[in-house]
Amino acid sequence: MLDAAIRARERTVDRRMAKLYFRYGAMNSGKSTALLQAAYNYEERGQRVLLAKPAIDSKGEASIVSRLGVTRAVDFTVPADGDLAEIFRRARARLERESGRPVSCLLIDEAQFLSETQVDDLLRIALEQDVPVLAYGIRTDFQTIAFPGSRRLLEVAHSLEELKTICRCGRKAVFNARSVDGRFVFDGDQVAIEQGEVVYESLCGQCYLEESGGVLNHRRGPVLDVSYADAPDADFT
Ligand SMILES: [Zn+2]
Repeated sequence: MLDAAIRARERTVDRRMAKLYFRYGAMNSGKSTALLQAAYNYEERGQRVLLAKPAIDSKGEASIVSRLGVTRAVDFTVPADGDLAEIFRRARARLERESGRPVSCLLIDEAQFLSETQVDDLLRIALEQDVPVLAYGIRTDFQTIAFPGSRRLLEVAHSLEELKTICRCGRKAVFNARSVDGRFVFDGDQVAIEQGEVVYESLCGQCYLEESGGVLNHRRGPVLDVSYADAPDADFT
């Protein structure tokens, strides 16, 4: 009987294994706000969390900045080639030593800038260290192509949740158009290095196509560039 009870309990524990969550959206969909709210919810229940973000993101440096004005320092940043599982293990041990309580969750902002290997590390943190991981990020870049970290998260996360925001026309925004000094641009590097003021506007598919002259993807194949740039298709007018 006892053995059966232990086995039943083990099965219950297995079913409760921590998961990797990917909460994605366009720019300005409130990802950082949602992350800080999730951290607050854990801490309100007396639980400890760790906040992190890739070092490549210079916005707010080592802080998570919500557009609503809430700012909070991260516990650690992740260098481009950093061993995320090991960095997390050290940060977790330090916090648990200092607080005397277990870490209940890892929250990652700007997760699109993680490498594929680092996203695999997030999955391992959930599966092997049994700590839930909430990753927040932008799905696609200004050319409608997935960031490497986001692509891997879409592939391996247990749970996907879209955070929604509205296009200027009122439809749901899904893409991120880049403008430099007030003009939309559709060529360039995935992370903007242009001179001038670079801003992003979240657009629905229809508005993105109107601004781009019908081109969805400037990096894949010149055929689209030629046909749409030189002779707009009637279907797109
Ligand atoms: Zn629109």
